[in-house]
Amino acid sequence: MAERRIVPEVDRAAAAQRALERRRARASLKRDLSTRVVSPQEVLRRAVEDADSDAGTMRITDFLIALPAIGAGKRDRILEELRISPVKRLGGLGVRQIADLSHWLDERFPIPEPRAGRSRLLVLAGPTAVGKGTVAAHIRKTHPEIHLSVSATTRAPRPGEIDGVHYYFVDDAEFDRLIADGELLEYAVVHNKHRYGTPRGPVDAALAEGKTVLLEIDLQGARQVRAAEPSATLIFLLPPSWDELVHRLVGRGTEDAEERARRLRTAKAELAAQYEFDYRIVNEDVARAAQEVVDLSAASPR
Ligand code: 5GP
Repeated sequence: MAERRIVPEVDRAAAAQRALERRRARASLKRDLSTRVVSPQEVLRRAVEDADSDAGTMRITDFLIALPAIGAGKRDRILEELRISPVKRLGGLGVRQIADLSHWLDERFPIPEPRAGRSRLLVLAGPTAVGKGTVAAHIRKTHPEIHLSVSATTRAPRPGEIDGVHYYFVDDAEFDRLIADGELLEYAVVHNKHRYGTPRGPVDAALAEGKTVLLEIDLQGARQVRAAEPSATLIFLLPPSWDELVHRLVGRGTEDAEERARRLRTAKAELAAQYEFDYRIVNEDVARAAQEVVDLSAASPR
């Protein structure tokens, strides 16, 4: 009779708990891949670095199917083409397989090189609730030499918001006038609701004084700035994970369910646009993310 190993109940429970946590972590990583919070190249890098990590223990089949626009049929063709067995885990790939997979990823999901040179005009954008405002506020406190643009908006002030500090709160007629008089560098309707725009005058004046200027605006606005000022440095703020972004969105508690769902849809679409940006910064720690933004300005040495 085969020997039966007696595993104490507590150990078994602990092992089951660990296995459950690993599965949850991998599921979360798959959501990050499908929402593009993390690039597939980064997940492969983590897997190669540590075969026992969440990335390393992910099945190649799960990895591929989590990628945007890859279905089961396509996944199987890719595996055949790359000569990788579907039972493999990312951390268990051979050297040739890693090289082939990484080449395929670079072709299919290219990560553009940031444009050469640095501008004093920095644009910080990113999905809703990622914490752009908090990072910008931190920069305002710690780097008063950087000019933080104050936007005009048609939305009503929230408690504690001061006109001229957080926003210029204007009515529709005044916003129309700003547009008509060409006083806005960019403007957009955000979340299908209110209009927001960057007054051009203060930005031009600060740049003329040799200052670094930071705009904290939405994706549509960032695109307009790119078109108007091609040399601007565009920075995209990423959440540490999709689950964390959802948590921040719900945690803020300022929107109702319908509004939250709409913001999540917007966030997904916004994440998909991150590769239009020169740099991506992960907002895991506000002070660190803020410093990384400052380090990208032309004023700071490379
Ligand atoms: P909130 O109403 O929560 O302060 O801001 C909502 C969104 O409007 C944020 O994503 C913020 O980045 C964006 N936003 C703020 N100011 C501007 C602006 O001047 N232009 C554009 N395009 N978006 C802005």
